[in-house]
Amino acid sequence: SLTRPPDIQATRLKLPVVAEEQKIMEAVHNNNLVVIYGATGSGKTTQVPQFLFEAGYGSPDSPTPGMIGVTQPRRVAAVSMAKRVGDELGDQSNKVAYQIRFEGTVGPQTAIKFMTDGVLLREVAQDIALRKYSAIVIDEAHERSVNTDILVGMLSRVVKLREEMAAEDSSIKPLKLIIMSATLRVTDFTENATLFATPPPVIQAEGRQYPVTTHFARKTHHDYVEEAFRKISKGHRKLPPGGFLVFMTGQNEITHLSKRLKEAFRGGNTSAGPQVRISGKDAPMEAEDIDFGEIGTDTHDFDDDDDDGDEVDFHDDDDFDIGEEEEIGPAKMHVLPLYSLLPTREQLRVFEPPPDGSRLVVLATNVAETSLTIPGIRYVFDCGRSKERKYDDVTGVQSFEIGWISKASASQRAGRAGRTGPGHCYRLYSSAVYERDFQEFAEPEILRMPIEGVVLQLKAMNLQHVINFPFPTPPDRQMLASSEKLLAYLNAITPSGQITSTGSTMSIFPLSPRFARILLVGHLHDCLPYTIALVAGLSAADVFIPENQIVPTIAPREEDGYFTNADRIEEEARNKIRRNFNKIQKEFCFLDDKSDAIKLLQVVGEYAHDPTEAWCHTHYVRYKVLKEILQLRRQITDLLRTNITAFAGLKFQDKLEPPSAKQVKALKQMVAAGFIDHIAIRADLAPVPPEVRRKPTRSIDVPYLTLFPSNISREDDDKAVYIHPSSPLAHLSPQECPEYIVYSYLQRAAPAAATPEKLPKTRMHALTDIT
Ligand code: ADP
Ligand code: MG
Repeated sequence: SLTRPPDIQATRLKLPVVAEEQKIMEAVHNNNLVVIYGATGSGKTTQVPQFLFEAGYGSPDSPTPGMIGVTQPRRVAAVSMAKRVGDELGDQSNKVAYQIRFEGTVGPQTAIKFMTDGVLLREVAQDIALRKYSAIVIDEAHERSVNTDILVGMLSRVVKLREEMAAEDSSIKPLKLIIMSATLRVTDFTENATLFATPPPVIQAEGRQYPVTTHFARKTHHDYVEEAFRKISKGHRKLPPGGFLVFMTGQNEITHLSKRLKEAFRGGNTSAGPQVRISGKDAPMEAEDIDFGEIGTDTHDFDDDDDDGDEVDFHDDDDFDIGEEEEIGPAKMHVLPLYSLLPTREQLRVFEPPPDGSRLVVLATNVAETSLTIPGIRYVFDCGRSKERKYDDVTGVQSFEIGWISKASASQRAGRAGRTGPGHCYRLYSSAVYERDFQEFAEPEILRMPIEGVVLQLKAMNLQHVINFPFPTPPDRQMLASSEKLLAYLNAITPSGQITSTGSTMSIFPLSPRFARILLVGHLHDCLPYTIALVAGLSAADVFIPENQIVPTIAPREEDGYFTNADRIEEEARNKIRRNFNKIQKEFCFLDDKSDAIKLLQVVGEYAHDPTEAWCHTHYVRYKVLKEILQLRRQITDLLRTNITAFAGLKFQDKLEPPSAKQVKALKQMVAAGFIDHIAIRADLAPVPPEVRRKPTRSIDVPYLTLFPSNISREDDDKAVYIHPSSPLAHLSPQECPEYIVYSYLQRAAPAAATPEKLPKTRMHALTDIT
């Protein structure tokens, strides 16, 4: 049996889910499928796997020896929850392990395995019966990521299959599937007859553990980063001890805010308040402030489905009067960022206690919205927005748009303040905006993403008519049709929709179909090692750190205020960075000055010769991403060797010589092979060139037209697409602009707030010119 540390035992007993243990385990015993709903903090993630474990799941000598698999939509969550459950299991902590894409601790002793949902999806593709497992817990199902949705669909079939197998062979046990959600929006799962013929039982655990008081702002400020800075500064001076968790939308904002806070609170808390220099660019746009006037108070009909016992305070929160007679918090601030591209080691710093006499201030994107418990967080500051990828399935144009989160997300964020004690959530928006502009729930990701990868995987699993797959929310038919069209271009399926042998080979690789296609033509001209490096690079997150995200390292300043001097020093540091940045970008292009793809290949190649953080730092590229690219290169090489007879002798070479001119040319053609539907022609060469009022003076203003109609409909009638300023092509003169460009995707920024009527240009993320 199990000996848990006494403090953990005491905390456990207070968790609402623990009170339901018997009910949950009875339901699991009587049903192969169970849905558990419990608000954030009720103990789902940490406790349910332990209930299963204590009931014998995952123990080699029990009737249910297979592992307990627990999925998380995010890697940080998989790693940190494995750690927490390990701690809770005390002397049996070695029974818990995690597996994320390139990293894991799973061994023969593992009984509970935390993993990302992507990892489990790959495992289903290898063994449709998931024989290694006796139970699967799908956590955070309410987030509705594409992977989670596909997993739920597949597992509904796996459960059936295991039932059938168990009926025939008593040595095989049925698989238990537990779907957990922090919101009650589970009807897409429970009332979906194609998914589950009989609706599964839903077990509800009580709300969160500690009360969280929610404070709305009186006004919704347009510049929420500025507003966050103001509120955090004031809150830090006035609020009793307790960590801050601040929700922002992206890395840029976090870097900016972190710098401001560090500057303002460098020497600790000053009673005069922070001295902050606001440049014109950062100044709040007062005229733009969205002010929706009065907010309802008495008549206000607030219903939040999980605010049991919680209060909502409609008064202005500026005084931070939280009705407690307590000492004011510590003077110093310990500011830490938390976003997905941050190296794992730095992400995990938020779980460590802050230095004595300082307040922990975590600036996070919505990676911190679910799963994670950051010890000591007592106050949440929520900007109410998030950055989401939007994808237009008709035009193929992608954009990253900052928009309001859903009410469900807002309540998740607030819940982060009540995990280890009572807390407060300061919303940087008014209740009027919340009521009027926030949807109940976010739209499932499958409706917002290109899905050719999903379609190929399903076809590779012998599902010719993908529309018949039991999707919790079926994708749009138009989206399915365009995915099939693309797969047909790539020769992955026949015109009638059947998978080809090329298509099944493509599906083996953890790559999007376009990159898998490039890989399979990549052995010509002895290019294979380069092609592998290139597709690995192209499928990873962005390697390059934009210049505006580089934080100058400035020698520590004296505390007694050489502020004007400091400004000058900072400006010099900036200029130095700019010169250096441009020089380095140029050097990366020495093989070819017109191709983003070859530039990326060069970075991947140079990194392999000096795979250190120091090298990445001096070259303004992301270490975490490059490390993953190197691992992916190794993985692709292994997959080629083991799956394709012609490559049986293939060895992995991490260090490569620069490719020859001939190879560079071949590589550029291969890239084009994966993107034949993404080619643009310089507009003046088109059969019907559009009228140009003024001759462009910069290459980024030279119009191009897409060869395949991209249906870009715009109010201002500009059907052209343009070079993105981050591309090496942006450094050419207009005369040097290539006739044809292959692009990976089109992107359009949201209109600037100051001039909403002026639409920004649609820009190509170029891959290469073709000659
Ligand atoms: P849920 O999945 O329902 O949101 P969890 O199981 O993640 O809830 O967490 C339940 C509670 O366990 C938290 O509210 C917190 O009190 C405690 N807890 C979880 N992880 C940690 C941790 N790393 N450190 C301290 N307490 C934790
Ligand atoms: Mg959880």
